Amino acid sequence: MLCADGSIHVRKQRGRELRAANLVERQGEGRAFRHGKGRENPSLIVGTDQPGTSSDHRHLTRKRHGDDMKRLTLSFDNGPTDGTGAVLDALAQRAIKTSFFLVGKQLRAPGARALAERAKAEGHWIGNHTLSHDVPLGRADAPHGHHLREIEEMDVLLDGLNEDVPLFRPYAGKGILGPHVFTAESLDYLRRTRHTVVLWNSVPRDWEQPPNAWVARALADIEAQSWTTVVLHDKPNDAMKHLPAFLDTVMARRIEIRQEFPPDCLPMVAGESQWDASALVRAT
Ligand SMILES: [Zn+2]
Repeated sequence: MLCADGSIHVRKQRGRELRAANLVERQGEGRAFRHGKGRENPSLIVGTDQPGTSSDHRHLTRKRHGDDMKRLTLSFDNGPTDGTGAVLDALAQRAIKTSFFLVGKQLRAPGARALAERAKAEGHWIGNHTLSHDVPLGRADAPHGHHLREIEEMDVLLDGLNEDVPLFRPYAGKGILGPHVFTAESLDYLRRTRHTVVLWNSVPRDWEQPPNAWVARALADIEAQSWTTVVLHDKPNDAMKHLPAFLDTVMARRIEIRQEFPPDCLPMVAGESQWDASALVRAT
């Protein structure tokens, strides 16, 4: 877990010490957990100057809800696709910053890299969501070396798109966490390469019908937890047509939208283990 003072000092591969603890904000202390190129940018620590996260608004929100204020971190997996542009438009119109976890076979499609570059240019964080997104790392028939293809090759493909402290989100299959998610070898690889592993605590199943049903499921998760990290998919389907209404509902409910991730979704930060993730590792 985090150190008692909420900070962790880590050493980057090239030896420059950096303070990585800033991606996670400790509740109520205004200390944020930053990472990557945003380390010196205050907007990445406390959010953006948009309704729902500006300092004035946060003050009003705390006054209204006190310690019960809900937080939401949005993330979009499996892109880029032909639907990514519309998602970026909806986020930009509301000045909301999120993370996109990309899949290699998608990134190789014509036009996809420009979408990923647009997302990064607009302030979203980009992460590795495996090269092929076909078999969870812990379910590979020949797991030895599988992670190198799925993680390392994808990092190479991402090139300058990933963050300075690279983000990795495993493919779990319908968002279900379990011992199929990692092998010990893959987790050790992520540790040695100083990745930050980003999980989730809400999968509203935006692939199911009817296409608007995920909105109610996501809102229920947000109400049930203090800080929800929701997984959506930036696909060219009817589900994402409901994203603007979802975002407007979240903002109307004074839910604080954060780009940072809550500690319980980060088993590893810059290669440093944060909590016991053995339940996510395949038995050898
Ligand atoms: Zn996925």
